[in-house]
Amino acid sequence: MQFIEALKLKSKLFFLFLLITMGLVTVGVMGTMNINAMKKNMDALYFGSLVPVTELNDVMHTYTSSLSRTVYKSSRHEISPSSIASEIENALFNVNVKWKSYVSHYKREDELQYVDYASLEIESANSYFRLILKAALDGKDLSSISINQLEKRVEHVASVVQKLITYEVSVAQYERKNFLNKYDSTVNQLGVALFIIIIAILMISWHVFTSIQQDHTRLEVAAKKLKRINKKLENVSYTDSLTSLHNRRYFNLVYEKELKQAKRDKSYITFMMLDIDYFKQYNDTYGHLQGDVALKAVAKVLKETLKRPNDYIFRLGGEEFGVLLTKTDESNSANLARDICNSLRAREIEHKNSQVNDFLTISIGVVCCVADEALADEILISRADEMLYEAKKSGRDMYVITSNVSQAQTQIVDEISA
Ligand code: GH3
Ligand code: MG
Ligand code: MG
Repeated sequence: MQFIEALKLKSKLFFLFLLITMGLVTVGVMGTMNINAMKKNMDALYFGSLVPVTELNDVMHTYTSSLSRTVYKSSRHEISPSSIASEIENALFNVNVKWKSYVSHYKREDELQYVDYASLEIESANSYFRLILKAALDGKDLSSISINQLEKRVEHVASVVQKLITYEVSVAQYERKNFLNKYDSTVNQLGVALFIIIIAILMISWHVFTSIQQDHTRLEVAAKKLKRINKKLENVSYTDSLTSLHNRRYFNLVYEKELKQAKRDKSYITFMMLDIDYFKQYNDTYGHLQGDVALKAVAKVLKETLKRPNDYIFRLGGEEFGVLLTKTDESNSANLARDICNSLRAREIEHKNSQVNDFLTISIGVVCCVADEALADEILISRADEMLYEAKKSGRDMYVITSNVSQAQTQIVDEISA
């Protein structure tokens, strides 16, 4: 049954359908064959025995009844010569027709000889009655007919025909027995064939369905695996490979989502734009690889400072980072920005060519406000960028925060230099 498991779902169902069809066709063919055989049996019974028996009975009845009665009556002058003639003629005609019909039916070998003998006896009896017919037509006196001889003749021919009837009845009984045997064996054969076919269909159906179930389970496992892989791929596509922070793609997604939520809740939203100070010089001094190490160190500082599950940290590109905070007021946002500056500086990552400090520092532009429907989507980014510019302009290694989100003016609300 391994080949069933190897089939595809459609092929499995088709195989099952084929099997059921084949089973039904087999039962149909067997049934038709047996019914045809039984029909032949019935024909043999009807045309081979019942019809001949009827004809023979008719022949016998004509001798023992019609012809005998006519001759009796004529011997007693109870009937006119013309009636005698027509009754005998009709009776002999009937005998001839029935006998010819009987002889024309199929005869078995053992029967043929006796039928020939019976034909001769019938012919002889008919000759006797034809003599009486002729005498009647010639107007002779029929009272001299020997009733004794008539009875002997009729008795003899009747006994000959009776023998044939007995033979035909015994053949009919034999055919009937045959038919009943055939019927019983047909019912048994069909029963056995149906039983085997039903068992085979049940077994194969069971195999097909367990195999379909296995396929289904395998499919489910594969779907789960695919889901996991997709999730991983999604994570990879949203992650910056150097720092393991979220990348700009993810920022675009989260920024829109969180801003909408904050607008709905009318709650605080904070966006920070961060940029390492004199990073070009850092690269020039320590090399690009060391620059990458420094980027990782900055990412670590950000992760260690912003620990809430809903604090988002992004590497927006190059040595620029973004931070998105929800439900954090201005003073807390300022504290966090200050902590970032302080923590990085406290790491004492040497930067001898920096013009603000001996160590690596960072500048931050912060915008913090209560979101409402009037808040333009891009305003937080542009305002944070402006604040970052202010921080750079004001000496770097600091944060500049604003809560003013009107595009028209730039207002420095707070500025802390470390
Ligand atoms: P400022 O204080 O005004 O920001 O000066 P800056 O030198 O930091 O600014 P600038 O934009 O001139 O230089 C940014 C530098 O960051 C240039 C580039 O070599 C460096 N950088 C950008 N991405 C990477 C990176 O993936 N790895 C490394 N090592 N350096 C990078
Ligand atoms: Mg820059
Ligand atoms: Mg820079």
